[in-house]
Amino acid sequence: METRPKLKNSDGVQRTLTYQPPDYDSIKVKQKYKWRPFQLAFQLLILESIIPDPKTNQYSETRDDVDLLWFPTGGGKTEAYLVVAAWEMIYRRLTKGPKGGGTAVIKRYTLRLLTSQQFQRAGTLICALDVIRREDSRLGSEPFSLGLWAGQGSTPNDYKSAHEKYSLARQDHEPENVFQLHSCPWCGTEIMPKTHCETNAAYGIKCNEFDHFSFYCPSIACEFHEFLPIQIIDEALYKNPPSLLIGTVDKFARLTWKEDACKFFGDKKVLPPSLIIQDELHLISGPLGTISGIYEAGFDSIIEYLGGKPKVIAATATIRAASQQCLRIFGRNVNIFPPSGTDQSDSFFSKEEKEKPGRLYVGIMPSGHTNTTALVHTAAATLQAPYDLGFDGITLDSYWSLPIYHNSRRELGKSMTLARDDIPERIKIIAEEARKIDWVEELSSGVPGTKIPEVLANLNKPVPNTIDILPCTNMISVGVDISRLGMMIIAGQPKATAEYIQASSRVGRNKQRPPGIVFTLYSATKPRDRSHYETFKNYHQALYRYVEPTSVTPWAMPALERALHASFIALIRVSGHLRKNTNARFFDSNHDEFKKLKKIFKNRIALAMQGLTESNKEEVYDYLDDLITSWDERVNAKVNQLTHYESQNSGKQFHPLIKPFEQEVNPEAWKTLNSMRNVDTETNLYIRGESMS
Ligand SMILES: [Zn+2]
Repeated sequence: METRPKLKNSDGVQRTLTYQPPDYDSIKVKQKYKWRPFQLAFQLLILESIIPDPKTNQYSETRDDVDLLWFPTGGGKTEAYLVVAAWEMIYRRLTKGPKGGGTAVIKRYTLRLLTSQQFQRAGTLICALDVIRREDSRLGSEPFSLGLWAGQGSTPNDYKSAHEKYSLARQDHEPENVFQLHSCPWCGTEIMPKTHCETNAAYGIKCNEFDHFSFYCPSIACEFHEFLPIQIIDEALYKNPPSLLIGTVDKFARLTWKEDACKFFGDKKVLPPSLIIQDELHLISGPLGTISGIYEAGFDSIIEYLGGKPKVIAATATIRAASQQCLRIFGRNVNIFPPSGTDQSDSFFSKEEKEKPGRLYVGIMPSGHTNTTALVHTAAATLQAPYDLGFDGITLDSYWSLPIYHNSRRELGKSMTLARDDIPERIKIIAEEARKIDWVEELSSGVPGTKIPEVLANLNKPVPNTIDILPCTNMISVGVDISRLGMMIIAGQPKATAEYIQASSRVGRNKQRPPGIVFTLYSATKPRDRSHYETFKNYHQALYRYVEPTSVTPWAMPALERALHASFIALIRVSGHLRKNTNARFFDSNHDEFKKLKKIFKNRIALAMQGLTESNKEEVYDYLDDLITSWDERVNAKVNQLTHYESQNSGKQFHPLIKPFEQEVNPEAWKTLNSMRNVDTETNLYIRGESMS
């Protein structure tokens, strides 16, 4: 194998990188690298819709469908769609040259927690791709790269605050890594040392407060010692759009507000993204799904205008009525893989395991005791049991840490106190030799986003240096993959069955370990809980049958009023017209390019409204026309003539087109969402007849 030119280290030492690809025919490699049949089949299925027929240069008809990967949690969906992303990134570069660079794949999530753990996995893929690229000039000189585009709560958004955070960590006795990337995805070396180090070389970050932030691997022996192609700072992402962009859904609402984010959609030199991956599709439902459906029409139109429709793939473990949901959100038909065959328990790619128990559900309803007492007693007994039963090794480890699931943060708060006082006290009463409870940790949206990876890392540690009790909310239900967890208490039946499945699937995930046990606590005073207790067996025997169909209604008037203008503005700005904040006043509805955009947008809306009534469609088109007319009028107004998209509170002489929902000034500006999170607002409810005083 050829060796690459010698590189100089930051410390001036010469070294040679000699990456040796593994021998793919060796027994060792064959045992280590394995695919599951469904992962291979999914790739093969998608290939014809991301790579056109070489003879006709046409994609298959399924190009326009949403390919939905529907597989139980813990099955390996992430790997299956990441490899499709790899195909797409490589194919673009091989066939389009430098134009195939830029952001090729956008992968979207709904919650910030999901990103941090899976970010690391995507990082490994990108490192592997870049190692291949360095050996193969056909893949171009632009490194394959990964970017995380998340809210301020999870990552610093600019160089200045990133540098501040780094400087703090650099001085800390025990440095806190708030940069989401905890170890080198290629070799596993920690990005920051456990305790303070004198030398900068122990810290895998280079940054300044003006124009630089990058990761590198602190290990000299690593391929990525010079530079890790992974980025998390917004400013840096806009400067160098990553090949694979992972973003939370709500962040995309920023496209209406900021011109910078346009960079992810290519330009004259680079194609727009050609593959969209929507993970945890079932979460894009209810109010969030409704609003994202409207924004989606804008994004899709942008990409279509700039370079052709992207391929869309999605993944989920629990879903009903996916075809309605995909139609309304993506304006596309859905293909579910693997298709459900004639036998519920055997889809060929997955079989129901009848020999080995997976998870045992136990329902508990106290009588004559409060829910709090029931929780304390159950938790104490389950925590002490593995100790008293004399478990050791992997069995003890599996039943050592106890997540306690709550339906709200209010209930969780109470449990934090119980976990520190009442539960350890109760253990002392029931046990001859009481187990110690030293480590109680919370996992909920109340925990800062930057701290979450640390909580998960601690939960992943083996007994006894691990968390004892983990009071948590539904944050644990999405993407937390800690294979050592074997038991869990669910304090109160969650409202949705999908949520119940997702939450309880966090335990007993590893087949090499003992089965999982889930204790569901019911309240005797709640009729719904009683009913669940009484039908416990039937319900649990056919859990997936009770998953509620998701409902999204993006094309109903209340939703349109909240988001259609925002989606439309994003379309105009990102597609390359009137991008700057001060350019809103040059809008002209008679311009040819605008007419083209409007046509694409309307067609896209029509696709998503298939099956709805004609009058319903007319209503949407009329509303869109009204928006366009009113923008035109504001451009040409004699009084309060339009000046900006947003005024950023810069003074009364400015007249913006949009403003945040909560802002009172500028009454003529359109109220616009800053984020797709919290799309629900509170409503005052008055009872007729009641005095209003
Ligand atoms: Zn490394």
